[in-house]
Amino acid sequence: MTASAPQIDPPFLGEPYLLTPGPLTTSYEVKQAMLRDWGSWDDDFRAMTRDMRSRLLALLGEGAQEFDCVPMQGSGSFAVEAMLASFVPRDGKALVLANGAYGLRSAQTLQYLGRDYQLLDKGDYLPPRGDEVAAILASDPAITHVVAIHCETSSGILNPVEEISEAVYAAGRKLLIDSMSAFGAIELQPSQIRYEAMVSSANKCIEGVPGFGFVIARKEELEAAKGNSHSLSLDVHAQWAHMEKTGQWRFTPPTHVVAAFLEALRAHEAEGGVEGRGGRYTRNRDVMVAGMRDLGFETLLQNRWLSPIIVTFFCPADENFVFDRFYDLMKEKGFIIYPGKLTVVDSFRVGCIGQMDEHVMRQVVTAAKETLAEMGVASAAPPAAALEERAKLAA
Ligand SMILES: *Cc1c(COP(=O)(O)O)cnc(C)c1O
Repeated sequence: MTASAPQIDPPFLGEPYLLTPGPLTTSYEVKQAMLRDWGSWDDDFRAMTRDMRSRLLALLGEGAQEFDCVPMQGSGSFAVEAMLASFVPRDGKALVLANGAYGLRSAQTLQYLGRDYQLLDKGDYLPPRGDEVAAILASDPAITHVVAIHCETSSGILNPVEEISEAVYAAGRKLLIDSMSAFGAIELQPSQIRYEAMVSSANKCIEGVPGFGFVIARKEELEAAKGNSHSLSLDVHAQWAHMEKTGQWRFTPPTHVVAAFLEALRAHEAEGGVEGRGGRYTRNRDVMVAGMRDLGFETLLQNRWLSPIIVTFFCPADENFVFDRFYDLMKEKGFIIYPGKLTVVDSFRVGCIGQMDEHVMRQVVTAAKETLAEMGVASAAPPAAALEERAKLAA
């Protein structure tokens, strides 16, 4: 047991739990921190920004001193776009490793930015492997950067970023990581996994509310990024330089969101940092997956690839199962689940992140059991096509 077991609040005013990958269920303290107004230029708020940046950097662990943290207004995708535009030079070329919607979004972003790229599209969930990356890099010397998704939230797969990083640096290229849905719950220590920059946002594993993202990058990359960005507002170098000089954000900061996020960071620390947070999410996942499997549900992924962030289940083959009705009945019981994103078979997702613990996850399983009974679904077993699809992973 960890020394400080997290205090999980019951849902606020009877609101449902969000079993989603962010926005997610936040604590009462996080919400309460937004009850005050702050002047963006005031010393108090500047101190908050400073505190936030150094706390985020500290989460990197060993090797953090070579990095700096640059918050960016907007949702997570704004920060991804800022990272890609600022670190892939205009004459550079990126290899995007995609196995779901977020990888494809990075490729689309590069297209908008007019940056040359190659896409390795593994489909809905197959992991990009180190040897594949090595082969592509060997065959295309023009590639300067590789873009990887840490946890691909559309399936919940935890991609093998360590072996990807080894392949990238063995070939003398640079790695950029979208760790949006993993950072804060899964280690990304530069001393273990080399990379130049990563990006995450306020409303995922740190359990803040939505409103900004942040880029954590090597200082030498930040220096070198000057002039790369096509965009004024998404220029990471400009935001960084301005913040270093004045302590302020360049344009109106989401003050309340920052105040809430600081509260969330304090709770993250009290829970035991990345290890403590990741431990709770892992227990959430284990309890929920075991309970759902007992009901006959099957996960898309084998245990090896299951992240402690979000889990994809196949929809049951039983003709009485209709996802929209399952969703509504789960919501009535206080749980908002998430539709799946697989293109081949029907699926849904259950998130493990946010202010929830294993007791809540047991209630989720009970709610699913009752819902199946109400719908007249005798078996939660998936169709044969789903299991055939999954067999590809083992191949
Ligand atoms: C949430 C998420 C994003 C950003 O999505 P927004 O809707 O823009 O916040 C990007 N990548 C991954 C892997 C994510 O999970």
